[in-house]
Amino acid sequence: MPMAQRSFAPLPRRSICNPNNVGPSMSYMGDALVGKVGEFIQLRRDIHRHPELAFEEHRTSELVAAKLEAWGYSVHRGLGGTGVVGVLKRGVGKRSLGIRADMDALPIQETTGLDWTSSKPGLMHACGHDGHTAMLLAAAKAIADTPSFDGTLNLIFQPAEEGGGGAVRMMDDGLFEQHPCDAVFAMHNMPGTPAGHFVFRDGAAMASSDYITIRIHGTGGHGAMPHRAADPLVAAASIVMALQTIVSRNVDPLDTAVVTVGALHAGNANNVIPAVATMELSVRALDPDVRLLLEQRIKALVNAQAESFGVRAEIDWRKGYCVLVNHTKETEFARQVALNLVGSDRVTLHGPAITGSEDFAFMLEKIPGSYLLIGNGDGDSAGACMVHNPSYDFNDDNIAVGAAYWAALVREFFAS
Ligand SMILES: [Zn+2]
Ligand SMILES: [Zn+2]
Repeated sequence: MPMAQRSFAPLPRRSICNPNNVGPSMSYMGDALVGKVGEFIQLRRDIHRHPELAFEEHRTSELVAAKLEAWGYSVHRGLGGTGVVGVLKRGVGKRSLGIRADMDALPIQETTGLDWTSSKPGLMHACGHDGHTAMLLAAAKAIADTPSFDGTLNLIFQPAEEGGGGAVRMMDDGLFEQHPCDAVFAMHNMPGTPAGHFVFRDGAAMASSDYITIRIHGTGGHGAMPHRAADPLVAAASIVMALQTIVSRNVDPLDTAVVTVGALHAGNANNVIPAVATMELSVRALDPDVRLLLEQRIKALVNAQAESFGVRAEIDWRKGYCVLVNHTKETEFARQVALNLVGSDRVTLHGPAITGSEDFAFMLEKIPGSYLLIGNGDGDSAGACMVHNPSYDFNDDNIAVGAAYWAALVREFFAS
């Protein structure tokens, strides 16, 4: 989940460090997982110790493939580079289901000090993809041990969720042509929500995310004689302020939009007017029409502002992830699975949208499905530390309940 990094004070270490002591979620384990959850907590911590960046998940990918093979899955390597699909076919049923986990880590220096801290300087699993992979592997084992469905199950382990578009690369390599799915589901952990608590949302759930570089080309000169230069710095300063009016004056107040100027660079000395000023923007929306409006207004405003200052704007617009839209029928199905598993006290039926983004959105453009959240911990617990923070760690209490959820979803999908 590529998100803005928030500052967050380091939190106390989790008191439960014994992998065999996994707390209240034990009661949600399917029979097939009883006594085995410690193995998957160790596996999660092993993946955590060995983080790999986007499209470099060679060790993780091989570990996933070897486990799936050992459990009787038909394994397909190499989709999207390091992507892996494990296929389990049972009976004669024609229905097919896809479940996706992500495997990549982030370029962050870990500061948790945990026993399973990253062994690689400057790299860590700060978004919990180690946990997502371990949860789906635990489910894969439980499902393989109790094959009680009729159809085809596709477990999709994707590379490069953190901005690299690994989902798209797998789809470009024929993911859904080779492994057709009637529905797809994915789960992400969410700090600030109690561990093991499930959150669902119909419709738009996560934002589109576009990246824009704007270069303002002027004419450099002496700081003492500005009338003989065309100052791109003053134009850029004006543009930064003018951009703030797009969300407040052009977007419907009931819609969601973000226009953030995250970088502004110009000049090196007090008496030199620079020739170029550069800006970096992050632009997000929860509706494709709003996304288009933002693009149109930003381009028009920047060009008109630049012209008014006698400078020229060069706009490099890079489209990132699209709006993630959950499908109603599949979301209702996923919600019912959680209600049956953990009860209504641990389910949020319709949670808030998030301005983070997620490339599972591209899978949902092609295949009906739903993206759900599982709480990572709240209050003063260690699991409340936000993702993309150097103190973050996936909550191992979720492995049993998350795996039990996937196993239940598989069982109920093929029974429905
Ligand atoms: Zn992330
Ligand atoms: Zn993530």
